[in-house]
Amino acid sequence: MCFFDQHRFVCGDWKWGHFRQHCNREYRIGETCGMKLIMQTVPVGQKCKLCERIDTKQRRRAAEVERVNRWQREGARFKASIDKSMDIIRGLDAEIYELSCERNRRLQGIGSHG
Ligand SMILES: [Zn+2]
Repeated sequence: MCFFDQHRFVCGDWKWGHFRQHCNREYRIGETCGMKLIMQTVPVGQKCKLCERIDTKQRRRAAEVERVNRWQREGARFKASIDKSMDIIRGLDAEIYELSCERNRRLQGIGSHG
């Protein structure tokens, strides 16, 4: 079990950082034994890339919903624009769902031996 830093993001996700120290199990020169343990936790003052991508898409989605609401108040003449926006929202929903699944998979993967 070799020791690594752990980088913890404000969203609660984390990733492995720098290698720090070998354990006393056998290993070839320059290699770690494959089992990772946390040497120290380094706080990162931002969200992980995945959560940032999810946030960006959610902001875009909220803006799109706002547009649709505005057009709907204006009546029927914006129907084509509304339909187009609804397509964009559906697309963003699918992308956000995919990113969330990826995040869950990653959390589960890290839960084992990393
Ligand atoms: Zn995250």
